[in-house]
Amino acid sequence: MKINENYKKLNESYLFSTIAKKVNEFIKLNPSKKVIRLGIGDVTRPLCKSVVSALKSASDEMGTMEGFRGYGPEQGYDFLKEKIQKYYLEKNTHLELDEIFISDGAKSDLGNILDIFSKDNTVLIPDPVYPVYVDTNTMQDRKIILLEANKENDFLPMPNDNLKGDIIYLCSPNNPTGAVYNKEQLKAWVDWALKNNAIILFDAAYECFIDDESLPRSIFEIENAKKCAIEFCSLSKTAGFTGTRCGYTIVSHELIFNDMSLNKMWLRRQTTKFNGVPYIIQRGAEAVFTPQGQKEIKENINYYKENAKLISQTLKKHNIWFTGGKHSPYIWLKCPNNMTSWEFFDYLLEKAAIVGTPGSGFGKCGEGFFRLTSFGTNENTKEAMQRLDELLK
Ligand code: PLP
Repeated sequence: MKINENYKKLNESYLFSTIAKKVNEFIKLNPSKKVIRLGIGDVTRPLCKSVVSALKSASDEMGTMEGFRGYGPEQGYDFLKEKIQKYYLEKNTHLELDEIFISDGAKSDLGNILDIFSKDNTVLIPDPVYPVYVDTNTMQDRKIILLEANKENDFLPMPNDNLKGDIIYLCSPNNPTGAVYNKEQLKAWVDWALKNNAIILFDAAYECFIDDESLPRSIFEIENAKKCAIEFCSLSKTAGFTGTRCGYTIVSHELIFNDMSLNKMWLRRQTTKFNGVPYIIQRGAEAVFTPQGQKEIKENINYYKENAKLISQTLKKHNIWFTGGKHSPYIWLKCPNNMTSWEFFDYLLEKAAIVGTPGSGFGKCGEGFFRLTSFGTNENTKEAMQRLDELLK
């Protein structure tokens, strides 16, 4: 028996365990100090009322002879796909129902999609970014080229004529930087992909944080993107589904490569290896897309946005360079006084009992930067910003 040796090449991620260790040590030495965590990438607001009520009534249904459901369609129930179809139509994108695949979250699909691509492909991945892209490709031994995201390009790497690759990951609004591509920039990527016979894997997990009509919430807002892009989306940050688990992936019929339909390949992959998202969860997800559900989730998103505004104001006041915070729950700042990411982490913890995430944990180009998130409570964020304000004086 031979194991997949590629696992040996994975970088062990010590980021969150190191943070936990440092925070625990600090608490031991300073038991009376209240530590405020602005490092978490998980949501804190509870599920909205419409979702809870839909989950309850679907559970009741499942306990009756008439309402019980066993295996569902692997690609999701039509009642949910119809809602998502309508959601896209509001963004002027027409999708066929069978172009929408319901999943248990974006992370699974972002990893699983690689099943339909050859291992010989070269993959382009921005640095810094959500670590799943690098790790899933490393597991399959694909050649990875990192695209530098930095202060000079506002953490939004762009294509050029010399850039060659087969698969490119774009994440907008970005984790960890909060940077958002505008339409012209995304169009440049779509043009590049079409010219190079490449595919864009577009991660729109944070699309609901965009509230500027001119910024694209979906890559399909760009002409011809259906010919070269797959979109991944999630209800995790949109509606607090991080623990409930539901997302969706759009694979258009126009994706034809080497006479093969990627839509058909993905359907084949999913029907072979996946047995669908629970009926109860899909009913909960359906409630997110009702007018009342949309109103309720917006209240939660606005709650986080208030936090983001507070953090941004404090940084602005002290002339600290940052991206994000506007159309994103993440604020990505340049560490003051040229500190490294971990130096600033220690400084913030020791002097203000605030926990953030060192940017270097998201890639080489993240060194010297720091991620704060708006997923905490208003009270804690306010208190943390008062402390930061004092500290930076
Ligand atoms: N994509 C990005 C950029 C993320 O930051 C996350 C989660 O943090 C995900 C995808 C995963 O989302 P899900 O909870 O739907 O698996």
